[in-house]
Amino acid sequence: MDRYATARDAALKMRPDVSVYCFRPHVLREDARRFKELFPGKTAYAVKTNGEPMVIRALVEAGIDTFDVASPAEFATVRDVSPDAELLYMHPVKAQSDIRLALERFAIRTLVVDHEDEIAKILRVARALDIDHTTITVFVRIATKGHAAYELSKKFGAAPAHAVELLQRLHNIGFGTGLCFHVGSQVEDPETYEKALASADWVRNRAGVPLAGLDVGGGFPAAYGHDPRSRAPQPPSLEEIMERLRAGLDEWEFGDLPLVAEPGRVIVARAFSLIVRVLLRKGKRLYINDGIWASLSDSWTGKITLPARFIPDPNIRRRNGDPENIVPFKVCGATCDSVDILTRPFYLPETVDTGDWIEIGHIGAYSMALRTRFNGFYPDTFVEVAEPFDSGEAPESFASLETMAD
Ligand SMILES: *Cc1c(COP(=O)(O)O)cnc(C)c1O
Repeated sequence: MDRYATARDAALKMRPDVSVYCFRPHVLREDARRFKELFPGKTAYAVKTNGEPMVIRALVEAGIDTFDVASPAEFATVRDVSPDAELLYMHPVKAQSDIRLALERFAIRTLVVDHEDEIAKILRVARALDIDHTTITVFVRIATKGHAAYELSKKFGAAPAHAVELLQRLHNIGFGTGLCFHVGSQVEDPETYEKALASADWVRNRAGVPLAGLDVGGGFPAAYGHDPRSRAPQPPSLEEIMERLRAGLDEWEFGDLPLVAEPGRVIVARAFSLIVRVLLRKGKRLYINDGIWASLSDSWTGKITLPARFIPDPNIRRRNGDPENIVPFKVCGATCDSVDILTRPFYLPETVDTGDWIEIGHIGAYSMALRTRFNGFYPDTFVEVAEPFDSGEAPESFASLETMAD
């Protein structure tokens, strides 16, 4: 992989017409270590957030040895990089053939359920493989009500009373049992975890079975951008969220259980940025060479303003407007699909023009993982970059970062 000091250097040297991912392995290692230090239990990286082998490799180098996986392809991705890694199969609804692969080929012994039929599947496969099912720990996923930018708690999870039944059933059959929840992604209200812990406590007390662990899921927020013309939002820092989570764990007396977290976004977001090119400026619209069917679908729900930095093409000698004037541009994606328009603008100098580049920061989570080949566009060019996106000259729409670092 070619290396550059900054994304600007990469853009000006490569003059790319395709979008380019700028990987910062040291930033990834730093953010993984930071999470590990703050969380009082096992850190299991959620592979779906970004399952690139280069990511798994850097995480293993940073001491991550446990991974939250959801499919045979994810099992294989992790084990190819790290044969000794512990895999937690945390998808509540599984194909029987995938359970077989998990138990047999990948020797996974931690799974999750939110329904009795899943328990029956696991038991059936274990028996068919002649595996002692008492060596398997099954976590029961409880439904939580959260306030995350991405509300995922509606799809999976057993209601508390149902979770009690599932735990008792698992215990009676002889499985090890655990409790887990996943409150959604980009959680900005620290109370979300406390509410989930309160539910977990209720379930534990009613179930009255020994628990092998509590898994608090993911959802920890990453830093993004905001409209530079209005007051910076003040999202809680990871330190704050973690302090509240620790307090909740103490309050509900979960502190003596083995704990697991499944962070994705908070660990990998900052490790990548994306260089895109302005294929056409049409008034206040920018047509770029990436979009919601490529790297930018995560921002499409309208909850995330991506931080953007202007990389002017030095070959453009005459520009209109005032470079100090930062204005919103509507961003249109590369495909011919009329929904391929970002819901939030990029804030850039009004001088931006056809042929310029833009560096989009903190794009590591749910970007390359969600790429499609729609219309034949599939960004797949990677370079390594030394400078973190958030160091040096502040990007135009990223005043929020300094507030978050305070
Ligand atoms: C997606 C997912 C995660 C990771 O979520 P982030 O918000 O990226 O931290 C963790 N656990 C489960 C079960 C998930 O589905």
